[in-house]
Amino acid sequence: MDTPVEKLRKILKAETEKFEDRAVIGGLARFADTWTREATAAFGPEASAWIQAIADRLRAYSQLSSRPERVAALEELFRLLKAGPSAGAPSAPPPQPAAQIQRMPSAPAVAPSPPPTEEPTGLNAPLTTVRGIGKRQSQRLARLGLRTIRDLLFYLPRRHEDFSNLKPINRLEYGEEVTIIARVQSTNTWQTKSGRTAFKALLTDGTGYIEATWFNQPHLAERIRQGQQIVISGKVDQYLGRPCFTSPEWEPPQKQLLHTGGLVPVYSLTEGLTNRWLRQVMRRVVDYWAPRVPDPLPTDLREAYGLLDLATALRQVHFPDNKTMLKKARYRLAFEELFIFQLGLLRQRLLWRSQPGRQIPIEEERLQAFILSLPFRLTSAQQRALGQIVADLRSPYPMSRLLQGDVGSGKTVVAATAMALVADAGLQAAMMAPTEILAEQHYQTLTRLYANWPGRPPTVRLLTGSTTGAEREEIYAGLADGSIDIAVGTHALIQEGVTFRDLALVVIDEQHRFGVRQRAALRQKGRDGSRDEPGGYNPHLLVMTATPIPRSLQLTIWGHLDVSVIDEMPPGRQPVTTRVIMPRERERAYAFVRSQVEKGRQAFIICPLVEASEKIEAKAAVEEYERLQKEVFPDLRLGLLHGRMKAEEKEAVMAAFARGELDILVATSVVEVGIDVPNATVMLVEGAERFGLAQLHQFRGRVGRGEHPSYCLLVAESASPEAEERLRAVEATTDGFVLAQKDLEMRGPGEFLGTRQSGMPDLKMATIADLRLLERVREAASRLLEEDPNLERPEHRLLARRVTEMWSKGEGEVS
Ligand code: ADP
Ligand code: MG
Repeated sequence: MDTPVEKLRKILKAETEKFEDRAVIGGLARFADTWTREATAAFGPEASAWIQAIADRLRAYSQLSSRPERVAALEELFRLLKAGPSAGAPSAPPPQPAAQIQRMPSAPAVAPSPPPTEEPTGLNAPLTTVRGIGKRQSQRLARLGLRTIRDLLFYLPRRHEDFSNLKPINRLEYGEEVTIIARVQSTNTWQTKSGRTAFKALLTDGTGYIEATWFNQPHLAERIRQGQQIVISGKVDQYLGRPCFTSPEWEPPQKQLLHTGGLVPVYSLTEGLTNRWLRQVMRRVVDYWAPRVPDPLPTDLREAYGLLDLATALRQVHFPDNKTMLKKARYRLAFEELFIFQLGLLRQRLLWRSQPGRQIPIEEERLQAFILSLPFRLTSAQQRALGQIVADLRSPYPMSRLLQGDVGSGKTVVAATAMALVADAGLQAAMMAPTEILAEQHYQTLTRLYANWPGRPPTVRLLTGSTTGAEREEIYAGLADGSIDIAVGTHALIQEGVTFRDLALVVIDEQHRFGVRQRAALRQKGRDGSRDEPGGYNPHLLVMTATPIPRSLQLTIWGHLDVSVIDEMPPGRQPVTTRVIMPRERERAYAFVRSQVEKGRQAFIICPLVEASEKIEAKAAVEEYERLQKEVFPDLRLGLLHGRMKAEEKEAVMAAFARGELDILVATSVVEVGIDVPNATVMLVEGAERFGLAQLHQFRGRVGRGEHPSYCLLVAESASPEAEERLRAVEATTDGFVLAQKDLEMRGPGEFLGTRQSGMPDLKMATIADLRLLERVREAASRLLEEDPNLERPEHRLLARRVTEMWSKGEGEVS
């Protein structure tokens, strides 16, 4: 006779032919009981954990709806059978059979100890396998993005209802979201004129009365009855001057909720789902699964930072014991999320620094001679930044530094000096700008700055898309043989044919305008040149941005870069006068533009931001341009610039404007990037309230670059009080950092950076404005990497996997 193991193996083998749960009469679930009996008889109670594990999987099998899941389940069963009864209880629990959840006693009692270290496959099972979730409900949940048990477990409440803090009816305020407990005084059902059924309940709690009305829920008449106590939560509306509820959530008061002073979760829902139902389902899922999810955070780290373990955090974030626990749970989940993010960032940095950089010998005297040869004195902020860069260049590690400074703060000269120092050491440098115009401006700036260079001035060449034919070939040859010291250019610098003899410094201007791949491509050029070196060098990297980045964002997004800040303007800069203009004053604004043009100056007019699409935005810009040209400024020379124009067209218009051949440049937000037209003195922004503050500040930076007084006029289209207040902030300060911080707080990081800033994983739990948390997380991540740079230790294995998962969703590398 077959042993129970052989018998089951034969059945499973038969099942692998079709995976239809037909290998044994009644299905594997039914066979589970027989197996348990026979196996217990054969192997004794010592093997019960193993027997149970197999039985659980057999019971779960019929619930698995897809073939791949069944294949996986069978594989697992074969593995268990092979391991045999002496293997003990397997660490991974079975895929959640519906019946299983029901049988589980409350969670803490079953928390396996030690906690699991492997992810149970059941977490990825579809939601239909949860008791109480049918096909229709699962489809509704899918609309919330919830497809697997894991999704549900990590679907966190929007807020918690605090039943320990109920409000009396006479203290309700319009518009607030509240929960009350009241008695039903009377009810009434009727048909509305539009043919809907309406059901109304008059409620009282002794302090006052309030009406609640529901539409198209006739069954409520059966369930909400006169004299009954109910709990209502929803927003306080008003009708005919009296407070009321419209279609609020309701439920009978549950003693358990009330007397424990419990915090009850409220989830975001979709049509057809109720919080009451979801809470019940969630309770079961959380009780069973929370203790079974392995915790990626190692124990000693949790202890060092006072963090809850994952099981507790998950339970408490859904069903908190009290507010303190809720806070701790949220903190722990946010910590984990940022921690994994930071590990990814910091590992990139380690990786970058694991290749040697060119150690550039820079003598102090030589450095001072260079600085003295510049046409102006560096500000102390510029000197400090340059000092930090020089220290990096002297070190054997490749620099990765962000140079941050407001528009006009003088970043270019700092980068220019660094590049010349590299050239002086016989190596090469490259500077990449996002547009041809900018590249050309940089080229001219460099030539000017190097005019009095002590010794041989570096050879600088410009390489853009317009560089063609013989000139291009010549530049390619010069870069390859090293006769060109410094290349300034656009994307043309990262084309296939471009090779450098010895590229030691890469400078990227307005770095957020470039995609991740392009930035990586330019850095890669540093390696091409040093092929003969074993392993090669990484070039030093300096990225420049005029977007003032609040420290919290710096730590998150550019956390792998060192940062230098130029927080001081060169002397003699005239602040741009900023005014918020109401729509009715627009004519006056136009008159002002005209008066400036008559004085020989130029102006920008920015069209309102159109979110819909670049195409619609372009169309709106064309219309605005035509209107201005025909109706407002028929006698002036207007140009148009928008995102749908070809690169060459854009360049041509900007160049014409820069040469003074146009009086007014009508543009969409594409003009934001660093073009320098010193003769432009007016920046008029239409629909200013639609732009972010940091962006308005960038617009403003386009003027005030010359000797003439300059103006920024912000026309608010529909100024709500908040919108006006925001704009007043731009009026009140010229400090980009202050505006950026405000912007970040108001709009969140995604908006702040613009949608093009991808490569940044989504954060669900954490707000990256929480600086204190971020700093702790960062410290924790650095410590961990110091001990285990490659996350190779067994206790870090799960962490390593999470890092990979998070970073593979974005582009994987941020700069
Ligand atoms: P940004 O930081 O916006 O790139 P730039 O490097 O273009 O600023 O500098 C803006 C202007 O200020 C340029 O015309 C530059 O020559 C000038 N500038 C830079 N540094 C100084 C300084 N220390 N003293 C005087 N003018 C300076
Ligand atoms: Mg610049």
